[in-house]
Amino acid sequence: MNKLEIDLVIIGAGPAGMSAAVEARAHGLSVVVLDEQASPGGQIYRQVLQADARSRAVLGNDYSAGATLAADFLQCGARYLPNAAIWQVTPQREVHYLIEGRARVIQGRHLLIATGAFERPMPIPGWTLPGVMTAGAGQILLKSAAMVPAGPVVLAGCGPLLYLLAVQYLRAGIAIDALVDTSSRRDFLRAWRLIPGALRGWRDLLKGAALLAELQRAGIRHFRRASNLRVEGEGRASALAFDAGGHAHRVPAELILLHQGVVPHTQISWSLRLEHDWSESQLCWIPRRNGAGETSTPGIYIAGDGGAIGGAQVARLEGRLAALAIAGQANRMSALHKTLRRARAARPLIDALYRPPTQGCIPDDDVMVCRCEEVTAGEIRRYVDLGCLGPNQTKAFGRCGMGPCQGRQCGLAVTQIIAAHRRVPPAEVGYYRIRSPLKPITLAQLAGEHHSVEEPS
Ligand SMILES: Cc1cc2nc3c(=O)[nH]c(=O)nc-3n(C[C@H](O)[C@H](O)[C@H](O)COP(=O)(O)OP(=O)(O)OC[C@H]3O[C@@H](n4cnc5c(N)ncnc54)[C@H](O)[C@@H]3O)c2cc1C
Repeated sequence: MNKLEIDLVIIGAGPAGMSAAVEARAHGLSVVVLDEQASPGGQIYRQVLQADARSRAVLGNDYSAGATLAADFLQCGARYLPNAAIWQVTPQREVHYLIEGRARVIQGRHLLIATGAFERPMPIPGWTLPGVMTAGAGQILLKSAAMVPAGPVVLAGCGPLLYLLAVQYLRAGIAIDALVDTSSRRDFLRAWRLIPGALRGWRDLLKGAALLAELQRAGIRHFRRASNLRVEGEGRASALAFDAGGHAHRVPAELILLHQGVVPHTQISWSLRLEHDWSESQLCWIPRRNGAGETSTPGIYIAGDGGAIGGAQVARLEGRLAALAIAGQANRMSALHKTLRRARAARPLIDALYRPPTQGCIPDDDVMVCRCEEVTAGEIRRYVDLGCLGPNQTKAFGRCGMGPCQGRQCGLAVTQIIAAHRRVPPAEVGYYRIRSPLKPITLAQLAGEHHSVEEPS
């Protein structure tokens, strides 16, 4: 059997991956796209091709707009492998994945990682209690199964997705007991001076303002500048307590949805030992890329939120740019760069306005940070006092980061806790050394692995 030569392997069928595939096919490249979801769309357009009219009305125009891209993607001639979970990627651009319980490997001349973002965990006291979920999880249930909570909900944290979900719940007829907003006066002051630069992205700003206006019209209780958030309850969540406006508040709630922004999905880029920088504006790790998205390993590109949080429009443009670079169409890239600058214009303002509060990133001693191995912030500080210098060593001290999520839930908080305790920048502390398997795989599956795209010799 001979291996087929594939020009471009793409991981992720969100806006970045789908746009890259369409562009690359238009220039005659052979393309394979893998994604662990069952249908194309990524986070923003999840299940968009299956959504009925009611779901589209609830989820809004930005969501429905993804249907055209998803349909174009399915027709573009790229080979699409849904339900494919990637568990290892090598610098030689081999992508190892599991599909229907079987292990397969595929290799491309170029690789585009378009794995998007995940929600920044919000480790506050009680965040591990049943009855507490992330806002994104609430939205995934809405998009993938039209499932909505039975009773009233409390939404807490900061960031555009929190307001978007609140509006989507309102449209779906869900009672929202309270919106507890942690954005502070300092965030507004920091954001103020960024307004002139952000005006070029006025459409994004208008969308945000429209969401807030819709919430205000609906009369939702909106607590602003909240701090000291903690979930109360014995065995499960029963209330959210917090301080706001100089008073202590306690809102009884059985379902609390937390959110403090999204951060790039960097497990694959770290596992490849690509170069990363700490972003002080987004408070997370960003893989280093050139203007076309190529990383420190030639032939490996990253596009979309997996490279830095930019939103769906930026993801689409970055996907196209990477595809043009790979197809050798440099002359077509400059117009796209201009559009990309405009699409990114509002981002610094959004980052400054919705910066997660220090307490949400660097919790107090008794708060659980590593949920898998049950390690608290206090224990991590104790490891530092004993000589632990960075996240990797926390594994040896107390198994922190060694559970099934492979450090995805605790990694950023561990970096920030250690940096603050050592009084050094996060960049000096570093991140976990991520190794495969990125997803669980059995020995039997591994033994049966073979090349997935083959032709008779
Ligand atoms: C939970 C959540 C909900 C969001 N909802 C919205 C919204 O409603 N509106 C909005 O404007 N923005 C939303 N965002 C932000 C949004 O993710 C982006 O702006 C946009 O979708 C980024 O596009 P992308 O192509 O970079 O990544 P994504 O759309 O995230 O697509 C990445 C794809 O990669 C796949 N993938 C990741 N890792 C693997 C792996 N190991 N193996 C196989 N496949 C993998 C994922 O299944 C996913 O389909 C949301 C973000 C999150 C985390």
